[in-house]
Amino acid sequence: MSSNNILETPIEFLKGVGPQRAQLLKTELNISNFEELLQHFPFRYVDRSKFYNIAEVIDAVAFIQIKGLIIKTETIGEKRAKRFVATLKDHTGTIELVWFQGLKWVSEFVKAGQQYVAFGKPTDFKGKFSFSHPEIELYEHYIQLGTDGLHGIYSSTERLKNYGLDSKGILKIMRLLLNQLEGQLTEFLPLSLVQENNFVARELAWKNIHIPANANDLKEAEFRLKFEELFIIQMRLLKIKTKRNLSYKGMVFEKVGAHFNKFYNEYLPYQLTGAQKRVIKEIRGDMGSGKQMNRLLQGDVGSGKTVVAMICMLIALDNDYQSCLMAPTEILANQHYTTINELLKDMPVKVGLLTGSTGKKQRAVLFEALLNGDLHLLIGTHALIEEKVQFKNLGFVVIDEQHRFGVEQRSKLWSKSQQYVPHVLVMTATPIPRTLAMTVYGDLDISIIDELPPGRKPILTVHRFDDKRLDVYEFIRGQIALGRQAYIVYPLIEESEKLDYKNLEEGYDMVLYQFPIPQYQISIVHGKMKAKTKDWEMQRFVNGTTQIMVATTVIEVGVNVPNASIMLIESVERFGLSQLHQLRGRVGRGAEQSYCILMSSHKLSKEARLRIDTMVRTNDGFEIAEVDLKLRGPGNIEGTQQSGLVDLKLTNIAQDQEIIELARNAAYYFIEKDPDLQLPEHAQLLQHLRQNSKSKSNWSRIS
Ligand code: ADP
Ligand code: MG
Repeated sequence: MSSNNILETPIEFLKGVGPQRAQLLKTELNISNFEELLQHFPFRYVDRSKFYNIAEVIDAVAFIQIKGLIIKTETIGEKRAKRFVATLKDHTGTIELVWFQGLKWVSEFVKAGQQYVAFGKPTDFKGKFSFSHPEIELYEHYIQLGTDGLHGIYSSTERLKNYGLDSKGILKIMRLLLNQLEGQLTEFLPLSLVQENNFVARELAWKNIHIPANANDLKEAEFRLKFEELFIIQMRLLKIKTKRNLSYKGMVFEKVGAHFNKFYNEYLPYQLTGAQKRVIKEIRGDMGSGKQMNRLLQGDVGSGKTVVAMICMLIALDNDYQSCLMAPTEILANQHYTTINELLKDMPVKVGLLTGSTGKKQRAVLFEALLNGDLHLLIGTHALIEEKVQFKNLGFVVIDEQHRFGVEQRSKLWSKSQQYVPHVLVMTATPIPRTLAMTVYGDLDISIIDELPPGRKPILTVHRFDDKRLDVYEFIRGQIALGRQAYIVYPLIEESEKLDYKNLEEGYDMVLYQFPIPQYQISIVHGKMKAKTKDWEMQRFVNGTTQIMVATTVIEVGVNVPNASIMLIESVERFGLSQLHQLRGRVGRGAEQSYCILMSSHKLSKEARLRIDTMVRTNDGFEIAEVDLKLRGPGNIEGTQQSGLVDLKLTNIAQDQEIIELARNAAYYFIEKDPDLQLPEHAQLLQHLRQNSKSKSNWSRIS
């Protein structure tokens, strides 16, 4: 491609578009240049070679095309019921085509006595089929485009249609664009890659994705263009990674010294699982390597990530570096603080806590101790990234529950130590399918704890309809009699917050009624409470004063009360899968059998049904994440929104896993072989990446 990139040409300069339609394309479809038009892919293809007989038309078929003679047209009805009806006839029967809008245009265009092709979805009205708002074309025009081949259908809008840019109109300008780009969409993938994978030529791929002659051409075009899309992302991510490795020297933690050994041999209250040991080894490897660590630690709820983080902090301390641990909520920060102090007992390690509620005086003391190095570990919330927080020598940063933090917040912590960038460990309990992780966290190394501490009984999960509520309460009373505690969780989503709070209050009243004082004590926690009250209520549950905790999803993340063995989730149909999995992870932390009860009404959508069935079937977070990805698509998986990297136009992360791996491996190969793409055979690739990154990322800046 030439260096003044033709793809960036404003769309109004395309023949047949002009300023007015250009403006519309911009506002309606966000298409402002050649490239964006090119990337407006058909959302469906019709087989132009196949016509249905009118007699064959049934409701079940989706979009079909028929052809025939218009034998009659009429405009009938008044006002909003006013419509244009044309009767189309072939050798098997007749069918009505109906329009409620654009009557002027359609009544001029559709004339009795002429042959047409109509395309659309038949609808059944009182046993009689008709097409409402079909796409329609004169048969003689239709065959001029050829009847063999697939016909791309593009999304459009009412306004665009009024300006002739319905699907057909878009196809028309697409053809003009493809003509104009002839000879310009040159190859940039290295030849070896093209040959190895049998990729079709780039220009042909772009043509065939819009105007495929047959299904095979389309398949090949898709394969190549998806690869292209993913390969560029992977190159970008790996470039960021290698760049980081080159420009930031990692502090070398070579000693595994007194603190680590003492803790490991004398204080650790249990045996680490094999997975925990493996992960600690991986982290140690990074820390000692001279590279700056950027590692994502994935581990299901309850897999024991906290102790892993803490042990690694001790390694930092053995090398005279400070560490910090950042949690997404105050409750969690407090809990980590408590847990870590309990684990360390009387070891000579100074741990501090910094949250939004840390008072001024305390802060001053903390800040001083941080600066002079008296404080070894700092645990806290977002408060940690404030400018005022300065360390003497921060060497290791742990971020818990990654999905609450964006990449930017991560890097804010880096700038805290002047000379070096500390090692960073990001922990998440929301497992992410491998291919998604490759795409979203492709710049991080990944460790996985795929084993739960021994002795855990799998949580039993059941689904109950609302009318079994009294039985469920009876069951809970039985468990409480055995000394257990229970969570009862209500949904709370912003859009219907008012109603949700009402439900919570009513639910709370119901629980109070079913579990009367003084035999039972109940805590309630929700987002509208003051932090102090919340903590107090929480504390009462943690220390066993209360047996039941009524809450909204604020308890979703991280809270650890091993004696709680029941998780009752109300209106389960309103929760997402990953949220349900997180909630369930609040129980099953002690030695007792735990239960998760999913309550719903009888009215369940197909998806809600699938979510519930998945929860009942498996406790495996990775399996659940896969289902979640398929159900909701990558954009909705927590942690991906802020990354901005999953802006994929063609690839479906859930379905195209093989291509993702292919692209990842290819990118690895080239970055390793030729990190700066200086070899002559990579010149085009380098140029393409630079060009491609101008708007979207910072390849040009980092290379
Ligand atoms: P998460 O990975 O969800 O953050 P935690 O770190 O909170 O999990 O650990 C969950 C529970 O498991 C804690 O009570 C912790 O003490 C316990 N635990 C962690 N590792 C082990 C182990 N190897 N053996 C037994 N219990 C463990
Ligand atoms: Mg945790």
